[in-house]
Formats: sequence, structure tokens, C-alpha cells
Amino acid sequence: AVAVTEMLEKLGIKEVNPAYSTGLVWGGQNNKEVREIYSPADGNLIASVRMATEEDYGAVIRKAEEAFKVWRTVPAPKRGEIVRQIGNKLREFKEPLGKLVSYEMGKILQEGLGEVQEMIDICDFAVGLSRQLQGSTLHSERPSHRMYDQYHPLGVVGVISAFNFPVAVWSWNAMLAAVCGDVTVWKPSEKTPLTALACQHIIRDVLADNELPEGIFSVIIGDAKIGVAMSKDVRVPLVSATGSTRMGKKVGEAVGARLGKSLLELGGNNAIIMTENADIEMALRAVVFGAVGTCGQRCTSTRRVIIHENIYDEVKERLLKIYPNLPIGNPLSDGTLVGPLIDKDAVEAFLNALKAVQKEGGNLLIGGEVLEGAGYETGTYVTPAIVEAENHYHLVQEETFAPILYLIKYSGGVENAIDIQNGVKQGLSSSIFSTNMLETEAFVSHWGSDCGIANVNIGTSGAEIGGAFGGEKDTGGGRESGSDAWRIYMRRQTNTINFSRELPLAQGIKFDF
Ligand code: NAD
Repeated sequence: AVAVTEMLEKLGIKEVNPAYSTGLVWGGQNNKEVREIYSPADGNLIASVRMATEEDYGAVIRKAEEAFKVWRTVPAPKRGEIVRQIGNKLREFKEPLGKLVSYEMGKILQEGLGEVQEMIDICDFAVGLSRQLQGSTLHSERPSHRMYDQYHPLGVVGVISAFNFPVAVWSWNAMLAAVCGDVTVWKPSEKTPLTALACQHIIRDVLADNELPEGIFSVIIGDAKIGVAMSKDVRVPLVSATGSTRMGKKVGEAVGARLGKSLLELGGNNAIIMTENADIEMALRAVVFGAVGTCGQRCTSTRRVIIHENIYDEVKERLLKIYPNLPIGNPLSDGTLVGPLIDKDAVEAFLNALKAVQKEGGNLLIGGEVLEGAGYETGTYVTPAIVEAENHYHLVQEETFAPILYLIKYSGGVENAIDIQNGVKQGLSSSIFSTNMLETEAFVSHWGSDCGIANVNIGTSGAEIGGAFGGEKDTGGGRESGSDAWRIYMRRQTNTINFSRELPLAQGIKFDF
């Protein structure tokens, strides 16, 4: 049994500062605004959490605005120093936080710990970045003039996050935003509020130790209503939203209507291409990790494998030997590779998708059952499915957030596989397995993959934080994390300085009077 109270206490969750979140309610209190959080791992009630109202939201934003006035005056490298301390605190709390991620969300412990490691990595990245928020120096066409561009903080950044990466995605945003001089207000998924509260507790101490206002990082626990309020709020110049395409379209529309900025990280429909020249052994490892890891609930999960006809049967046979032996069970137990789906609604969606794709002509080869019996009492454990399908099927075109892998056969050259890979609405992650340079270079060329992420001899999931993360088309076009993704958290200003006693006009315009 998991000692939940002890786990939460280790993370400092006993009471919550009501100004920045709306407070925990420990079991049993009768309040209609309360949401009960059950673990998908064992079905136990972890805690009851009071949901924020729009009034609470307003109070949090006001605190954040006040904190921004302080934070923007702190030099960027000093802001980096605070982020360095946050990274160290996360190192200290890696184990209990990783465990709570695993218990609340259902991903296996290794992935829970990996998620916290990703937070630590982005802190390190942001610390370095805090001395590198560079603009360019430009040459003016006018004599004794100088031009440059610089980047200033934006203000309050709203972060709306999804349940499947309950803490890492927030840290990608919040740590970059912090060194950029912004303050963040985080609305985590209502399915995973406890990990968010744990993060707030961890960083609250760092801010207090440095005599900084807690409003630099705020969390607000609420459902879509709070996300809607944030999207419409002119006090939030940037809304970074991670979740389904359906949600992203609404957020994009609302933020666009007030000409704010949005950073959208939405659904994927990721494929691995296996050409005749693939190292099959290596590719299979990537396919299986990508398809069943996090029980198919990563935005970068492998949904489709596009296999050359000459190796199709072999690949199919090998997969059918691997799948029955995948250890499915409690995500906190040693040796488990596949944990549960987040809740029964997700199980329902998984079963419905399998039914529908079979109606369209899909051939279910394995999996698709809900597990029962000892250890599976929650009804959230399923056997990962493999379906032979065609790319144009309605269900193959959609992202089902569950472990369903579609096998798609192609013939001819790699360009045919690329056409299939690109032939969906989403454009997040993609990969090719081939030892032939002509094929791999074609895949990453301008006529190759149309995704934000295109990997060679690596699967679709498991990105490093050093690269910019995100995708095109229905995935929303946003980029987070590494490379120069920081720029969206700042506003650009062009400065032209005249150090002469003349006032020449640009383009040589004469305006004498
Ligand atoms: P979801 O869209 O149901 O919810 C995501 C968040 O949006 C939640 O916090 C929710 O409260 C909020 N929300 C819902 N409707 C809203 C609205 N109208 N306005 C404002 N906020 C609203 O997604 P989910 O089920 O939590 O997560 C799974 C989805 O997230 C998948 O589609 C997955 O691919 C995607 N995802 C994408 C990335 C990425 O980086 N591209 C990363 C993780 C997850």
C-alpha cells in the first residue's frame, strides 16, 4: 500500500497558502466545489481539492501583477540564481515528487522520476540562458546612428497544462519565463492537482528564503472555466496551453480575439517509418517504448508504424511476440512497464476507438482488453493493442490517447512512406529507421517530414530539453523548452540611437521647413 499522507507530507502538503491556490480539503468535507482525486494506480482517494472560482482567479492574477513589478527589476542572471536554487530543491525532492507523479498520473516510477529530472534539466538550461538573452546589434543607414534590438519581460504568463506531463511542461514554461523576467500563473489539469501543489510548496520556500514574493510563481487549481478566464484576460499577454487540439483551438481563438500571444502544444499523431534498410532490432525497441510507454498517453506516443512491405510480416510477427510479455501493473512496482490509463473515461475512449476502427476495416491483432482481478480492481488497466489499418481511416487520422498502434504497409520508395506519415492533420513528432543515408536525408529534407520533431534512428517520444519542442498543423505551432524558444516569453524592442547633432531621416527623405 502507498503511504499517501506520508508522501504528501514529505512534499510539504499540509496546508496551502490560500492566496496562491485555493486550498486543500482533507477528505470528507462537504463542499460542492471540491474535486476528489483518485489514483489510477490503486483507486484510492489521494485527497480532495477545492476548485477555484473566477474570483479566486482574479485575486491570483492581481498578486502576480504585483510580483511582476518586483521581479522585472531583478537582473536576469540574478533571476537565474533563483532558478538554480529551484533546480537544487527539485534534486532534493526528486524521489517523493517522482513518486507522486507516478501515483497521481499513473506513469511508471522510472518515468515519474524522469519527468522530475526533466524539470531539473530545464532549470540548468534556464540558468545558463539567464546570461544569454541576446538581441542583435544592427547597422544603421544613417551616419552616427546605432541600432539594436533587445528583449524585455512580457508580464504575466498563463500556463495551462495537461494531465499526462503534470509537472514537466509547467517547468519548461515557468523556468524560461522566470529568467526572462515574467511571472507565471499555472492552471494544471484538474486531474492532477496534487503534483502541482507539491511543486508550489517546493519553490515557495526558495522564494521565501530570498525574500521574493510568492506571486512570481502561482498555481490555481481549477477546471476549464479557469482556463477560459485566462484566455480572455488582457492582463495575461501570453497563454501557453498544452492539451488536446479541441482545447487549443478554443484558447487560440480567445487569445487571438484580444490579440494576445498564445503558445499552443496540442495533440500528435506520430509515426515511425521503417524502411527495408531499417535495423529492425533497434526499431522494435523504439516502437514498443513509443507505443506502450506511459500507456500510450504521451503527446509524442507512437501511434502509427509505416512499414515497407518487404519487412512487414517480420515486424508484425516480432511485435506479436513482444506484446504478450509486457509487464502491466501498478506503476510504482518494480518491473512494471505499462501502468494504467488515467481514468475510466480514457478506458471507454480506448474501447470505442478499437470498435470503430474495426468497423472501418481495421484488423485487431492483439490487445484491447480491460484487465480484471487482483491488482487491476480500478478498471483502468488495459492490454495495449495493435491494429492493421490504412492511413485514411477516420480513427487513424485522430489521436486516441491510449495504447493503440496502427500498422500501415507501404511499397516503393521512401517518398511514399513520407506521404503517409505527413497525411494526417497533426504534425508533432516523427521518425525514420533506416541505415540508408539517401532515405534518412530525404526524411529530414524540405520535402520530408512536416513535423516539428523529425528523428533518425530514434523513436518519436523521449525528447531532450535542449531542442525546441513542439509541432505544426493541428499540433498548434508552438515551441517550448530549448534552442531559442525563450523568445516568445519576451517582447522585442528595436532601439535606434542618434549620437550626432543632425536629424537625418531614413530613406533619405527631405523634410525641410
Ligand atoms: P485537455 O485538452 O482535456 O486539457 C488540457 C488542459 O486544458 C487542462 O488543464 C484543462 O482544464 C484545460 N482546458 C480544457 N478546455 C479548456 C478551454 N476551453 N479553455 C482553456 N482551458 C481548457 O487535455 P488532456 O486530456 O489533459 O491531455 C491530453 C492531450 O494533451 C493530448 O491531446 C496530448 O497530445 C496533449 N499534449 C500535448 C503536448 C505537446 O507538447 N504537444 C504535451 C502533453 C500533452
